[in-house]
Amino acid sequence: MTTTWATATATHCPYCALQCGMRLAPAAGPVPVEVRERADFPVNRGALCGKGQNAAALLAPGARLTTPLVRDVWDTKDGRGGRGELRAASWAEALDRAASGFAAVREEHGADAVGVFGGGGLTNEKAYQLGKFARIALRTATIDYNGRFCMSSAAAAGRIAFGVDRGLPFPLADIPRTDCLILVGANPAETMPPALRYFRELRENGGTLIVVDPRRTRTAEQADLHLQPVPGTDLALALGLLHLLIADRMVDVDFVAERTSGFEQARAAAMAHWPERVERITGVPVAQLREAARHFGRARTGMVLTARGPEQQSKGTDTVGAWINLCLASGKAGRLYSGYGCLTGQGNGQGGREHGQKADQLPGYRSIEDPAARAHVAAVWGVEPEDLPRSGRSAYELLDSLGAPGADGVRALLLMGSNPVVSAPRAARISRRLRSLDLLVVSDLVLSETAQLADVVLPSTQWAEETGTMTNLEGRVLLRRRATEPPDGVRSDLWVLRELAERLGAKGPGGEGGFDDDPETVFAELRRASAGGQADYAGISYERIAAEDGVFWPCPAEDHPGTPRLFLDAFATPDGRARFAPVSHRPAAEEPDTEYPVHLTTGRVLAQYQSGAQTRRVAELNAAAPGPFVELHPRLAARVGVAEGEPLAVVSRRGRVVAPARISDAIRPDTVFMPFHWAGPGRANTLTNPALDPTSKMPEFKVCAVRLEVLRLERTGEDA
Ligand code: SF4
Repeated sequence: MTTTWATATATHCPYCALQCGMRLAPAAGPVPVEVRERADFPVNRGALCGKGQNAAALLAPGARLTTPLVRDVWDTKDGRGGRGELRAASWAEALDRAASGFAAVREEHGADAVGVFGGGGLTNEKAYQLGKFARIALRTATIDYNGRFCMSSAAAAGRIAFGVDRGLPFPLADIPRTDCLILVGANPAETMPPALRYFRELRENGGTLIVVDPRRTRTAEQADLHLQPVPGTDLALALGLLHLLIADRMVDVDFVAERTSGFEQARAAAMAHWPERVERITGVPVAQLREAARHFGRARTGMVLTARGPEQQSKGTDTVGAWINLCLASGKAGRLYSGYGCLTGQGNGQGGREHGQKADQLPGYRSIEDPAARAHVAAVWGVEPEDLPRSGRSAYELLDSLGAPGADGVRALLLMGSNPVVSAPRAARISRRLRSLDLLVVSDLVLSETAQLADVVLPSTQWAEETGTMTNLEGRVLLRRRATEPPDGVRSDLWVLRELAERLGAKGPGGEGGFDDDPETVFAELRRASAGGQADYAGISYERIAAEDGVFWPCPAEDHPGTPRLFLDAFATPDGRARFAPVSHRPAAEEPDTEYPVHLTTGRVLAQYQSGAQTRRVAELNAAAPGPFVELHPRLAARVGVAEGEPLAVVSRRGRVVAPARISDAIRPDTVFMPFHWAGPGRANTLTNPALDPTSKMPEFKVCAVRLEVLRLERTGEDA
């Protein structure tokens, strides 16, 4: 077959929140399409990283699930029951088993004993339908998603400060036009390489790039100034910079007076964080603090962008709030080429949090506790407001309650597009909780580590086989287009939800309250449900997205141009003013001590994506990043007596893992780093601390205390 690029399908990469534009053309062989760059898409301008270039590999039938799987269970005389192996089943058997299991648990334990766990990679249509399925087909409050582990602290801080959460309040194309940018706990050189060109262009234009990271990452190597704080101390660092802005009279007093509220409390907290104190807490020398404050304070325009570093902390909301304070005090928000933004991670991390798969939200970024919001969404769904459940528990709380006895226990779970066996904190415990369920139903395109524990596995279509919308990190709503037929035996998640809803006695397709499996029909309903909400999609259609290469929300009407830049006239708070956060430094939930003397921080590598369920199955990516490692400084390596490549045990209060040592002077001597993409003996999340941020309920992935042991024969992977 000759590849016909003239008729190729324009779509987007299945992985990260950059949602790079790409083209797919039919190809001969088991992989049915070929990937090419798409130079005219404005976000990535033709560039793709290795993940995107190799994305088609998983479309081959041999690389993914192509039939439903069911596990037989039986009673035994001792009452403990038995469980067989997963075996192939028909769709009818698998769906009947799932639906009857959900109904039985609901009957015996109540509606909230059936849980739903979604993912930040689901299209807007799927995320919307999953939230609706939970609320009106299962009638459960127990729904949340893995995006809670991703950017929820930034979302919470953004809503507090600005009244609305959109990852970036401006297009990426604005970045090269700002004078000074502080990138905090973000490593786009590895997580979204095509975005790096914006930071390079910023420097070529004479701007200053400051990177804050405990590691000298590939991104930090490109910075004018790299601040290398102790993990978990970014809040003190931001307070110290604000202190210097105030002390050196770099506060924009007119902006603070006219467009903000709450400065005095923030000022008082900052004044208690003088440079020498901040150096003691963070390890960042006073001279570097002064240099950073001078660059940012004196710049005419400036931006602060955060990612998981400051966000995945038990004080993540306050930490992001402190960085926002810095923007507000210096007048660098709500103005062209200035502002605070969050670099969202997952492909639809933005849209996934807007349309109802979060425990406390209804579509349109509405609060599920708001009577007006409940009335609006109930009318779209054809139910009474009082029929809608209230807020449920957050992601880790939900996972931690699986299989627990009593009223709080979740006994059955529908999990869609997530792999918590690898990605959840304290992962060995979460694996045990998943095993203790009466029924686990997993919809996925591969047999992930979590799917391997399931009673029912439903093989789902993937990006190139389906149409739907994704919202990238800029708030730009994009169209994912179907380019090839799925293999026989594979179905879309929308079809699965329709079938389950029918079996559970909810309305069938068509009309309000029904469960349709046509993406455009679901999107039309999503538009109505979101109308008038903060994330208003009412004016966005598939036709418009195609014609305009994406539409920025809010877009309340078809003749509305969309909103690439937020806050230029007013912030989205009731009085139009941005709010300073009254925050003060506090230590991480777990600090090093004599038993566990070293910090552990976790993150990603270039060739793998999130839990690795997909990228670990791609030969080219696996060759580039075949397994976990423990990165540590030469001085620390000498102290513990480990050489490059030798196995090193890392032990926390929650478990023990082993991975080869990778010795590098790019990391602080008091800290080790592990990537979290792998299961098995090197699973980083066996170690991580589920201490939750009180506002966002984000677990503290980014910092915990560990000890290192050089051992030749290891017992691994057990939860403490
Ligand atoms: S940067 Fe993200 S969206 Fe772009 S090709 Fe890589 S993984 Fe895909």
